[in-house]
Amino acid sequence: MGTIPNVTMKWCVKKSTCKWCEQPINNGTPVVTVFFWNKGNENHRGWNRSYSYHPQCWIAQGLDYLGRNPYVQQVRVKKPTLCEEDRRKRYLLVRKFHKAEQQRKNCGSFPDSLLSEIRLTQQMIDVMLEVATLGGVPESWAERL
Ligand SMILES: [Zn+2]
Repeated sequence: MGTIPNVTMKWCVKKSTCKWCEQPINNGTPVVTVFFWNKGNENHRGWNRSYSYHPQCWIAQGLDYLGRNPYVQQVRVKKPTLCEEDRRKRYLLVRKFHKAEQQRKNCGSFPDSLLSEIRLTQQMIDVMLEVATLGGVPESWAERL
């Protein structure tokens, strides 16, 4: 948790052992040094781990890691962007839906209220069908019919 690797490549000035192939890395040859920064706590601060690799071994371990963690394509659902005119149309449809819903609530107990309810519900469905082509039906609408 909380380790941030920091990778540098430089000339080896102190003979060390490659973490990948476990062979010596000699002075004067390129070495990849990886520090893992531990954010630490009150008692411990600083770089707490460092590993050395031959440059080709650093690549090899990286490819090995990727091989064990196959590429997964990131799927991003992109909402269609509406042009100004369609946005306006959508706005008016949403308003119409809410208005019909409100009217239906206010139908009360008039003798013809059932017919009005059916008419308003039909209107709401019509609006839904239109909105579906203009950026999609809001999730909550289906429950409100
Ligand atoms: Zn190596």
